[in-house]
Amino acid sequence: MHCEHVRKTMVWSSVNSRGEPFEGGKQLRHQCDACGKQLSNHLPHRLAKPDLEKYNQNQDREWQDKLRSFDEKREQERHEWFEAHTEYLGTNEWQEKRAAVLAGC
Ligand SMILES: [Zn+2]
Repeated sequence: MHCEHVRKTMVWSSVNSRGEPFEGGKQLRHQCDACGKQLSNHLPHRLAKPDLEKYNQNQDREWQDKLRSFDEKREQERHEWFEAHTEYLGTNEWQEKRAAVLAGC
């Protein structure tokens, strides 16, 4: 899933970009309207509008879910790559290439 984060909203965040609790209170950040990702730059607190008092927990939870499923998908892909790679290493083609390299060809 690729998102350009075109539309974003200012939110108070209490977690960092990896979803871990942020030490030292809250950060003012931009959150993408489309995917819910909190964008990495921290904004000066004076930019916060008064109606921004409460931090959007729900949206963040959705983002956490997305992040988790993304991680699972990536883990799955890594696993598949590893299996494919292992298979490749077992092929004669690779054995021959390796032999050629070792022989200095
Ligand atoms: Zn986005």
